[in-house]
Amino acid sequence: MTKEYDYLIVGSGLFGSVFAYRAKQSGKRCLVVEKRSHAGGNVYCETVEGINVHKYGAHIFHTSDREVWDFVNDLVEFNGYINAPVANYKGTIYNLPFNMNTFSKMWNITTPAQARAMIENQRKSVSGEPANLEEQAISLVGVDIYEKLIKSYTQKQWGKSCTELPAFIIKRLPVRYVYDNNYFNDRYQGIPVGGYQTLIDKLLDGVSVKLNTDYFSNREKLSAMADKIVYTGLLDEYFDFCFGALEYRSLRFETEILELDNFQGNAVVNYTDPETPYTRIIEHKHFEFGKQKKTVVTREYSMQWEKGMEPYYPINNDHNQAIFEQYWNRAQSERNVIFGGRLAEYKYYDMDKVIRSALDAAAYEFK
Ligand code: FAD
Ligand code: UDP
Repeated sequence: MTKEYDYLIVGSGLFGSVFAYRAKQSGKRCLVVEKRSHAGGNVYCETVEGINVHKYGAHIFHTSDREVWDFVNDLVEFNGYINAPVANYKGTIYNLPFNMNTFSKMWNITTPAQARAMIENQRKSVSGEPANLEEQAISLVGVDIYEKLIKSYTQKQWGKSCTELPAFIIKRLPVRYVYDNNYFNDRYQGIPVGGYQTLIDKLLDGVSVKLNTDYFSNREKLSAMADKIVYTGLLDEYFDFCFGALEYRSLRFETEILELDNFQGNAVVNYTDPETPYTRIIEHKHFEFGKQKKTVVTREYSMQWEKGMEPYYPINNDHNQAIFEQYWNRAQSERNVIFGGRLAEYKYYDMDKVIRSALDAAAYEFK
């Protein structure tokens, strides 16, 4: 018997929405189910006082993948925003990522040669391949920057000491011997004009979306409605946690409207001292060069994840990776189900990588 839909897509984040868009272009019928009250997953923006508030944390689009960049630019316009966060350490401001502006302020120096000499001298305590995040950080930028800008921020962010964390986390950040505060090395960067909802609306235009619908609350009925499933939720939940639960880091956001036009002069300020309980403050209007009378700021607190909380960051250490492999092997033998996205692939994916992954999955499916 013909089913009502070709695809049931669980989750309306970027993976689910991009897949739905491609499926629709190929004449397929899709139903997207989303347990939240809105579409878009973690890129969702809510308009407050005329400002697009990044409800699940600051999202800056950046990529070097030309095809992904062309894909999103065919749908929406990007505003040219370049992310240049600053760090506030006990009241002193330092530029991020670690570059000549940071080195100059930290050591009162002016040239790349002086910066290299400082770092060379301060990294002597680490010999050989860095075994953890602390060693990796010291070997990249020396002890002073590690102590002031990395150690406590990282500990707050991950709830673990830097000696217990894998080195790769810090390798995401550029280290530059030029005066350049661009947080990313990618070729293309920006924020969709009008916020991320413009992108999500375009992707889901003409697609059936059921909000406030948890797949697991009606699994059999929903599964029976389509020939295939695209699953972007938690991988372990799909298999009823049979190999144990994968761990995440969660976040808590405290948002307030302020009766002033400019609170901190930058979209992102990281608090890198141990005493401040939050990791950063986001002032949303600066993502879109806003001129509104009021401003909206969000304090971001990192916290231990427990079942039922939003799972923001996968914790890709050896323990979790071993559990993930078991689930992933099992997923390969699941017929007519495509697993994709940050949660189902248990990967610390940026937006462009999720879009790439969804485009590839769709290309394979609709070839
Ligand atoms: P999600 O956005 O998580 O979407 C999954 C969706 O599935 C969710 O809407 C969820 O509610 C739904 N769902 C889950 N289970 C079920 C179920 N059982 N039934 C129904 N629906 C379900 N990337 C960048 O490129 N730049 C950045 O600056 C950046 N900043 C970030 C900041 C933070 C704080 C975080 C957490 C992430 C950031 N990212 C950033 C990453 C970016 O958010 C992700 O790459 C992207 O949003 C992932 O899309 P997704 O579709 O895989 O997952
Ligand atoms: N980091 C840090 N100090 C900062 C910013 C980042 O020590 O001011 C470290 C921290 O360990 C963090 C990692 O660099 O987890 C990656 O930072 P990024 O901003 O890429 O993380 P995101 O917030 O995007 O996950």
